[in-house]
Amino acid sequence: MTEHPGGLSISLSLAQHVVVRADVAAPGHPVAGRDYPRTLMEFDEWFASEDACSAYLQRLRWPAGFVCPGCGATSAWRTGRGLLRCSGCQRQTSIVAGTVLEGTRKPLRTWFQAAWYVTNQKLGVSALGLQRVLGLGSYQTAWTWLHKLRRAMVRPGRDRLRGLVEADETYVGGVERGVDGRQTHDKSIVIIAVEVLPSGGFGRVRLATVPRATRSHLVGFICDVVEPGSTVRTDGLAAYKGLESQGYRHVQRVLLGRRAPAHVAMPGVHRVASLLKRWLLGTHQGSVTAKHLPYYLDEFAFRFNRRSSRARGLLFYRLLQQAVEVEPAPYRTLVSTRPQPTHKP
Ligand SMILES: [Zn+2]
Repeated sequence: MTEHPGGLSISLSLAQHVVVRADVAAPGHPVAGRDYPRTLMEFDEWFASEDACSAYLQRLRWPAGFVCPGCGATSAWRTGRGLLRCSGCQRQTSIVAGTVLEGTRKPLRTWFQAAWYVTNQKLGVSALGLQRVLGLGSYQTAWTWLHKLRRAMVRPGRDRLRGLVEADETYVGGVERGVDGRQTHDKSIVIIAVEVLPSGGFGRVRLATVPRATRSHLVGFICDVVEPGSTVRTDGLAAYKGLESQGYRHVQRVLLGRRAPAHVAMPGVHRVASLLKRWLLGTHQGSVTAKHLPYYLDEFAFRFNRRSSRARGLLFYRLLQQAVEVEPAPYRTLVSTRPQPTHKP
């Protein structure tokens, strides 16, 4: 990084020049008060301007420092909202191009406020709630923003579950009302995989919708989200047979002679399923359509997997960090039932 010796240049470089920070946090170990704000007051101080917001996004997107995609130079100038001009070849690179924030016409600061609010509410927020708190002009905008942020809640290339993992399907939904007021019956099959810890507590969770509870969908999902070598516990459903040949230890819990309550046979999945249903009915008032359910499952997993994180600012950091990761290759290609994300606002 070039340093300018003159006083004026120094102040300019502080204001505009891209400084590769020596104290960029190691991946996975962001520090409160340095990498993310600890309080609302800090949030307001850090993100008082558009430039401060785009500098923060830049650092999240290029944690090891910006590299020009044109010439490989590592120094650039922020020319305006979200734009970097390479000081070598003058090529302009957008900080948000290819991310979920691409194409936004609202200030980045408003997006930051949305991300802060969404991550600071333990159970999340409805579109109406977000619209009110940000003073957004339309419900549609708030709804779209929440969906964009949900897309950032799936960590591309994230680790698969391991150890002892319980997997089972549940049904979500039922009667729902379409935009025309017509009621439809619309139940979705959601498959849940959750780590069961040696302590008996639960670790991380993954969820997905599947069109049918068939072997290809259920085993496909497990292969997608669970590390081979792990132990997978399922019920006696024949569709789960075949896990052994995929490299898993498979334990089927078949309780004969009586109808085993779900919380006995599958305590982890049962717990996650009831939390999920309560959340959909509570925060979202049961208004989630089958078409959009996969995105809500992503948000649920994001929150569940970070439920013990006391630093809400860390969730804010993770959310923005994932928001500026370049659009990943479609995840869950084996059970790709997710609707194609719309790229139009
Ligand atoms: Zn360049």
